[in-house]
Amino acid sequence: MQVVDKVYIDGVFVRPHGTATFDLISPVNQELLGKLTLADATDTQSAIAAAREAFKSWSQTTKEERIQYLEKMYAAILKRKQHLIDVMVKEYGGPLSFSSVSMQFALDSITSNIALLKQFDFEKKAGNTIVQLDPVGVVGIITPWNASNGFICTKLSTALAAGCTAVIKPSEMSALQTQALTECLHEAGLPRGVFNIVTGLGPEVGAELTRNPGIAKISFTGSTAVGKSIARDGAETMKRVTLELGGKSPNIILNDADLSKAIPISVAAAFMNSGQACIAGSRLLVPEYQLEEVKTRLKKAVADIKVGYPADPGTDIGPMVSKKQYERVQGYIKAGIEEGAELLVGGPGHPEGLESGNFVKPTIFVNVKNDMRIAREEIFGPVLSVLTYKTEEEAIDIANDTTYGLTAYIQGEDAEKTRRIAARLEAGRVAINGFKHDPMAPFGGFKQSGIGREYGEYGLEAYLEPKAILV
Ligand code: NAD
Repeated sequence: MQVVDKVYIDGVFVRPHGTATFDLISPVNQELLGKLTLADATDTQSAIAAAREAFKSWSQTTKEERIQYLEKMYAAILKRKQHLIDVMVKEYGGPLSFSSVSMQFALDSITSNIALLKQFDFEKKAGNTIVQLDPVGVVGIITPWNASNGFICTKLSTALAAGCTAVIKPSEMSALQTQALTECLHEAGLPRGVFNIVTGLGPEVGAELTRNPGIAKISFTGSTAVGKSIARDGAETMKRVTLELGGKSPNIILNDADLSKAIPISVAAAFMNSGQACIAGSRLLVPEYQLEEVKTRLKKAVADIKVGYPADPGTDIGPMVSKKQYERVQGYIKAGIEEGAELLVGGPGHPEGLESGNFVKPTIFVNVKNDMRIAREEIFGPVLSVLTYKTEEEAIDIANDTTYGLTAYIQGEDAEKTRRIAARLEAGRVAINGFKHDPMAPFGGFKQSGIGREYGEYGLEAYLEPKAILV
């Protein structure tokens, strides 16, 4: 069992003021993996004070200096990449294949911020006026458990690139992953106080970051419910917010799609990261006349998927992060059955032989109506809802009939048609014919999937305040 009993404040690992502890439980067998001593509001205040002090000099560094530090950060993380992946597999239960991709994305976010800085101009012109882009101040970074270190790397590297300093509050359920990453960041030798890490509970540490006047901006990834409370409470001190929230992403299969490619892509899009993905394509929209063929192909595609131990390289779907998350997903599977959707594959309970962990059967419902809970609410597990449409117009209406708007997927052979439909979907990213990631392209949500964008120039500008200097 590993003990995590330090927070990282002002460049040193120190014992927290908080004394409460949190058990870290293995998602594969419920064994106790570790114990975390939780940071509290006092620790958060100390971290904010350190970040504020560091901001004075960090905000004055040159672009070139910041690039050098980001390069050190990249090198330190790269050196321990495999260890970071292994801890993610062990603590979170992310399949090895997904965890490896996730860690690569984390590294890519740093290199893309380096590339961006090289070409970014912190001084622009508007009319006859000089516009200077100033770092917004100390940023509170609050992250979820489903790709913890990826979110920390993306947000921290962007904040540092902008000239901001940070206080990071990761999920308490990711304490071992955070510890491994903090060791890398410490080794990178960044100036004291530019980043501080206080792992504690949301309503204590997260709430302190949200309320504290020393924090200028919150960059949050997590649920829509918590995102709303941050927007509300942060308004008191007029905090800037970037909120990356939930999703219920549509995946439209057009009538000219090649189903031999589209169905495996759709299953992968729905079940990526064991379904615990904000961008999961969890509503599959198919032409009504093709439903029977789609059903046959979906059954076959799911039969080819392996649910199992996350460290096994052949595993596609690992356990849910916690017992609570397992129960939540089970609740939605029951709701789908009770609402009258047709269970095509999967269903309640554990897959055979995997009863000891938080494993869920990959589940597909067909004949789903868009007003059912399984079509409207984010499940965050390997559960796919299949809906049918008669016309292209109806497909677009169903796709947009959601409170969310994070991602959408379209599959079809006619490039002009897919592009035309993409233009009409209410989503921050639309992926045509498969999952794609571009660390230079904006990422974020329409509607209740969030406010603001991350990545690339849009992401960097969210950490900057334009100042017009009228001469
Ligand atoms: P969550 O909202 O419960 O928690 C996210 C973080 O917020 C955690 O660190 C948590 O401790 C903290 N928090 C909780 N209460 C808080 C409060 N009152 N004030 C401040 N912080 C508080 O989410 P989760 O269960 O950890 O993660 C799953 C959710 O995250 C899903 O809804 C998913 O869609 C979303 N998510 C979104 C994206 C995206 O980029 N849009 C990516 C991944 C996950």
